[in-house]
Amino acid sequence: MLDKIKNILKLIKSVDMAQLEKISKKVDLAEVLGAVSKMDENQLKMAMKMLTGSKKKKDPPAINADFYDVSAKLSPEDRALQMKVRAFLEAEIKPLVNNYWLHDEFPFEIIPKLAELNVCGYVYEGYGCAGGTSLMDGIIASEFGRIDPSIATFLGVQSGLAMGSIYMCGSDAQKQEWLPAMQQLKKIGAFGLTEPLVGSGTAGGLTTTCKREGDKWVLNGQKKWIGNSTFSDITIIWARDLDDQQVKGFIVRKENPGFAVEKIKGKMALRIVQNGLITLTNCEVPEADRLPNANSFKDTAKVLQMTRAGVAWMAVGCARGAYENALEYTLQREQFGKPIASFQLIQNHLVEMLSNLTAMQTLVFRLSELQDDDKLKDEHASLAKVFCTLRTRDIVSRAREVMGGNGILLEYNVARFLADAEAIYSYEGTKEINSLIVGRSITGYSAFV
Ligand SMILES: Cc1cc2nc3c(=O)[nH]c(=O)nc-3n(C[C@H](O)[C@H](O)[C@H](O)COP(=O)(O)OP(=O)(O)OC[C@H]3O[C@@H](n4cnc5c(N)ncnc54)[C@H](O)[C@@H]3O)c2cc1C
Repeated sequence: MLDKIKNILKLIKSVDMAQLEKISKKVDLAEVLGAVSKMDENQLKMAMKMLTGSKKKKDPPAINADFYDVSAKLSPEDRALQMKVRAFLEAEIKPLVNNYWLHDEFPFEIIPKLAELNVCGYVYEGYGCAGGTSLMDGIIASEFGRIDPSIATFLGVQSGLAMGSIYMCGSDAQKQEWLPAMQQLKKIGAFGLTEPLVGSGTAGGLTTTCKREGDKWVLNGQKKWIGNSTFSDITIIWARDLDDQQVKGFIVRKENPGFAVEKIKGKMALRIVQNGLITLTNCEVPEADRLPNANSFKDTAKVLQMTRAGVAWMAVGCARGAYENALEYTLQREQFGKPIASFQLIQNHLVEMLSNLTAMQTLVFRLSELQDDDKLKDEHASLAKVFCTLRTRDIVSRAREVMGGNGILLEYNVARFLADAEAIYSYEGTKEINSLIVGRSITGYSAFV
């Protein structure tokens, strides 16, 4: 008898006060105690189950943001690389980023570790680069975006915009000089196209000018928003030739006379990325540092086509990071005595997020297949950039919403994605400009002006 009472008390102890109060409203507890004292242990357990419902918490399903198993299409080697990159980012980058983001600083200590990971310049042939597929390059960008869009942007500028300009438009000597060192992140690059007064309209007329004087060029003008430029060794500067009015590209070294850069402060997105305002005052660049295969804006656009595809992948990562953190939170957080993940309205948000994320993942997968088959057109890259960055904005905002107040605290790992999605939405061509590129392709009418 004593044992039975002990068991009853043990079971009652395992019920929380709110539940006990609920039970006491339904039944007379003294009567129940009398009755249960006559029960054997199994009957007792069943009775408690009837009164409280099953108290054993179910383990939630594993979080799986790759709902259509897109990764299953990868070869075992590529899948292993994806997992290696993910493990690196979880271990080396994730613990640092909130603090650096908060202080608007770049974590220089990660550069040698990133070099060791050996994914910079992943798609290029030679120069120490892996010669990998655009698909895996995209997957890598997405893995970076999933942990931190700022570090993903740092790598995107270095590997895509800066190395890509040299790889696509540079001479053999320029490639030999810069690509191996940049692949190893021993030299850092930046890409200067946007100007304070000319952003979306760069194709229509850059105000930064270049003029040939003997065996050197003289550059004048300003470039705004230039990622990595506060500490980069070189910046690719795009300028309009005063003689033939065509856009030309230059490798401008930080020590070139007439080159000055000032950090842009007060950003509310991608705070780890160091963006600079560059001023070129009679900046002298030798002819040997002009990119010989950049002879009009069309050549600049070739670089942008590749990097826009990368930004679409990065947006997938940003959305995925926010979704995974938000889902995990909703499974832990309880309100009204239940995990908030069990509420219909919360599930609606989660499913909307997953639907968009799944559409984005499948879209960028096909985008990269086109790229690897050498069939990618500007409008393909632009459509992916528009769709993914737009949907990412929706996903991060729902992620923040299901987390209530904690959604705006950095430590809960969604606020950063919420803010960063704003920059990804605007850079490498805004929604309007990329939509106009697609619009021109499907209607035959250019509607830029
Ligand atoms: C964090 C960050 C990092 C960046 N990094 C770099 C970098 O490394 N290198 C670099 O060169 N640039 C960089 N940029 C610049 C970026 O590419 C530009 O901000 C972007 O192209 C938009 O230009 P803008 O900001 O001058 O906006 P604007 O061109 O002034 O546009 C303002 C608004 O007008 C709309 N608009 C403009 N023209 C049209 C039109 N014809 N029809 C309809 N709507 C139109 C735009 O869509 C936008 O909504 C970066 C920007 C940010 C925010």
